[in-house]
Amino acid sequence: MKNNLKILIAAAELTPLAKVGGLADVVGALPKALVNLGVDARIIIPFHGLIDRNKYRSKLIKNKIGVGGQTVNLWQTILPETKIPVYLIEHKFFKGKKIYGAALADGNSDIKKFTFFSPAVLACLETIDFRPDVIHLNDWHTAAIATMIKTGGQSLKTLYTIHNLANQGVIKDKNRNLMAEGVLNSDLVNTVSPTYAKEILTKEYGCGLEKILIKRKKQLSGILNGIDTDFFNPATDKFIKRHYSVRSLAAKSTNKTALQSQLGWPRNKNTALVGLVTRFVRQKGVDLITEKFSRLNCQFIFLGAGEKKYEDALLNLAKKYPRQFSVKIKFDERLAHEIYAASDIFLVPSRFEPCGLTQMIAMRYGSVPVVRLTGGLADTVNKKNGFTFKKFTASEFYKILSQALKIYYEKPKAWQQLKLSGLKKDFSWDKSAKQYLKLYRKLRLIDKIKNFC
Ligand code: ADP
Repeated sequence: MKNNLKILIAAAELTPLAKVGGLADVVGALPKALVNLGVDARIIIPFHGLIDRNKYRSKLIKNKIGVGGQTVNLWQTILPETKIPVYLIEHKFFKGKKIYGAALADGNSDIKKFTFFSPAVLACLETIDFRPDVIHLNDWHTAAIATMIKTGGQSLKTLYTIHNLANQGVIKDKNRNLMAEGVLNSDLVNTVSPTYAKEILTKEYGCGLEKILIKRKKQLSGILNGIDTDFFNPATDKFIKRHYSVRSLAAKSTNKTALQSQLGWPRNKNTALVGLVTRFVRQKGVDLITEKFSRLNCQFIFLGAGEKKYEDALLNLAKKYPRQFSVKIKFDERLAHEIYAASDIFLVPSRFEPCGLTQMIAMRYGSVPVVRLTGGLADTVNKKNGFTFKKFTASEFYKILSQALKIYYEKPKAWQQLKLSGLKKDFSWDKSAKQYLKLYRKLRLIDKIKNFC
């Protein structure tokens, strides 16, 4: 399939080169699906200090490109196992070993870094032989590009994707809000699930930008994220002990007993293992996990890192109930996959959740999600494949998890059905990539109509 569309995706993160959360997964997976639709999709990110230069070999394609009195070097590599070009902008601002300065990943401490990244993207683009139809911008880190294109009178079209409205990139002394600029100055705006697209128009979820978003309601849509079904595949996953699929689901329990041993617990495939992999920040609702949860007949394995108060609260539970709670404070891709493969139940109690990938990954691994009904969680989890609660309280969460455990222990057939319906669901990017394609085409059309008039 060929359609001559050229898309440049600009972002702060990219799986597997430099990942903090779901943004990286989207930027790493969407272009693969676009290429399958015949699009020439390319990616541009900062050359972060944490990117492994030996693993991801890159070549210098242009040095000393001028950006506002400074210079950057432009490197190029490929997205692993594809031919998709990845451009890496090298500058001392990006040399640090962390993508964001603060645990919150709101990046407010990184304003300087990303307001520099935006003009650098445009400067680099002028030096390469690639003229995109659309620059696809992601979150506030790249929002200033939309402002520059609009005020500079450039003909480039922009799509701005909101991955998380809570992180806005506010420059107080200049009275700038980069998220708001992205929303106002891009040609089209979307967010990562249909429900979140509606929620953000309200005061409750709009994070103070609801009025601006309502202004752009006609240009705003919601496209559900997919997951990389090759990277997250229990039948081939290089990180897990025992491969399995819909046809060999019984083998999943080997991963549970392996993880139990790894955590210093006795091997017992009958005990329900409840997993959670997330950033430990306010959004994720981990504060709903209280001491009362120790009364439940199950084991908990939590993996994440973030704000100290949430980390400490969970670590305290592990200290008090070491045979029931295990808490690992770190970013660990391998352990994350091991948890998806080993767990029977997976928790996502978010206060708000633009899309959420972990519930989809969990379902792909036959782990039944227990989630709060909000944003993308509401678009992906229902009675057939998991458990949901609406009111954001510890008691509601506790109640629904108890119900899930009751079915796990007492109704094995119903439990098997829940697992199977998650496992059989198509979470690949194919469908969503087609929706992005529609937006890109719409943008290209705007250009053609303008040129014609
Ligand atoms: P968000 O983008 O808000 O962080 P998502 O659910 O959209 O949340 O995506 C989270 C992604 O990051 C998933 O791929 C998840 O497995 C991964 N992840 C989160 N925390 C960790 C961690 N501590 N170690 C490994 N992977 C993690």
